[in-house]
Amino acid sequence: MEVESILQKLNQELLQASNPKQLEVIKLNYLGRSGIINDLAQKIKEIKPEQRSEFGKQLNLIKQEVTKILESHKIKDSENKLEIDNSIPDKMPSTGSLHPTTHAIFQIQDILSQIGFVRKRYREIDDDWHPFKALNMPDNHPARDEWETFFCENGKWVLTPHTSNGQIWEMENKKPPIKMLNITKTYRRQISPKHSPMFHQFEGLYVDKNVSIAHLKGTLDYFIKGFFGSNRETRIRPYHFKFTEPSFEVDITCDVCKGKGCKVCKAGWLEIGGAGMVHPNVLKNVGINSKVYNGFAFGFGVERPYMMKGDINIPDIRMFYTTKLDVLKNF
Ligand SMILES: [Zn+2]
Repeated sequence: MEVESILQKLNQELLQASNPKQLEVIKLNYLGRSGIINDLAQKIKEIKPEQRSEFGKQLNLIKQEVTKILESHKIKDSENKLEIDNSIPDKMPSTGSLHPTTHAIFQIQDILSQIGFVRKRYREIDDDWHPFKALNMPDNHPARDEWETFFCENGKWVLTPHTSNGQIWEMENKKPPIKMLNITKTYRRQISPKHSPMFHQFEGLYVDKNVSIAHLKGTLDYFIKGFFGSNRETRIRPYHFKFTEPSFEVDITCDVCKGKGCKVCKAGWLEIGGAGMVHPNVLKNVGINSKVYNGFAFGFGVERPYMMKGDINIPDIRMFYTTKLDVLKNF
């Protein structure tokens, strides 16, 4: 038995094999039940007893070598296959998703557009008239405080601290009936888990004939149930704003205790924003006759109400504006 010549023959056959099927045939020819190696093993009976031990050693050696060579070919073959097989899926590229603030804005816009509010986006840098004077805010109003608000060029311009300037722009440019939704960025000098120096607000304004507080309450209910779920209730509490009369703060039932009262809320209620009937002075400032027309307005944050949704877990408003992908990837 010539070990060398058998291995040489095997290597030659392997060189000619070009696919896994041929490799499998070669394997059977050598290692199969009626393959070359088993045939050789049968011949042990014909060998003189004193030579049998040497024959066995040679046979084992050849079996090991053949197995080794075939195994190495199998690996090579699968490597080649990986290189040329285009049907094997590649690594997926990472995909982006919408920012949570964008999700919130789309939801707000969807709900309020269904009852006729038209989305606008008014200025983020404004003059003194639109965010203050026209809104009936006197020179000593706290919103004009330099510690609260970002002023530019010695008070000539202001980064809008609220979205109510949109009311003035809308009413200056459009005659009633008006149903406007102004969603934009707002700026205040505050920073804490509940405050970010830049955040978003949305402002609803409805001006027409015979608008009542009942219309306001109905609109707030519609929005709250659409945004937070049909199990959430709304209430309005008397408050004071310069540009609405009467004015209200808007509360919704707490999701944690379902309105029973807990650590998170005030006796079952959470404050969410402000609202009221448009002040006659504001209508006068934009040239609308307050004896013919009246209206209501409401202004809420975007990020904070979104944080108050039961299924959203964002404990700190500043997390919206970090670059931490492990937070943002959840949306
Ligand atoms: Zn509660």
